[in-house]
Amino acid sequence: MKVLVGVKRVLDAYVKARVKPDGSGVVTDNVKMSMNPFDEIAVEQALRFKEAGQVEEIVAVSIGPAKSEETIRTALAMGADRGILVEADAEIEPLAVAKVFKALVEKEQPELVLLGKQAIDDDCNQTGQMLAALLGWAQGTFISKIELGDGNVTVTREVDGGLERAQIKTPAVVTVDLRLNEPRYASLPNIMKAKKKPVDKTTPAELGVDATPRITTLEVQEPPPRAAGVKVASVAELVDKLRNEARVIG
Ligand code: AMP
Repeated sequence: MKVLVGVKRVLDAYVKARVKPDGSGVVTDNVKMSMNPFDEIAVEQALRFKEAGQVEEIVAVSIGPAKSEETIRTALAMGADRGILVEADAEIEPLAVAKVFKALVEKEQPELVLLGKQAIDDDCNQTGQMLAALLGWAQGTFISKIELGDGNVTVTREVDGGLERAQIKTPAVVTVDLRLNEPRYASLPNIMKAKKKPVDKTTPAELGVDATPRITTLEVQEPPPRAAGVKVASVAELVDKLRNEARVIG
């Protein structure tokens, strides 16, 4: 089985996002960028399948500016076999990303596409669902467990208030949630080896995809600053404040 894995380059999860002075977006110049954390989990899952002999090839795909090659190299250092960089604007939208993936799926013929449940920069949570719809494939979203069967995949989905198990037919699109696994770190020898692994380069236009944005960002705002906390002298005072000031207990 061949697996395509989406690896988006995003603002590092531990960096505090700063809004550009003109409110047009978030500052990304000279800021640490990393692989979207859910995508690390997707790569890890693909690697575990490969180690179990269930997957032969893992192809890491990133759509974005030229620097997204670094994100692909991280996936290759973790153990992915090769990469595809689709050079596009940093602000490429989920629908365009889904169309790019559809074009790549038609070329590469994978049986499984593993994506993160959401990218932590746009928080869209749309790409996997759109891709499955465009391909007419089954989809399993927010999955915290996955087992490959013969012509199917059994997934455990994190839903409000519990878990749902479902069996879906392959080929399929699966989006992964936080509790699926703990991604590995790339070792130094593997980082060196990753430099030699192949990364093909293309563009949305070459794949026949119109990536023109359809959404105009009107304004990005910082969240309001949090009010300072207070220290309470006793449990009784805490309960009093929770009841009469915060009004969160009866
Ligand atoms: P989103 O729908 O934007 O929240 O993204 C969901 C998932 O789709 C991400 O976790 C990635 O696996 C994949 N994805 C979205 N945008 C990109 C991109 N530009 N390059 C590669 N994968 C992406």
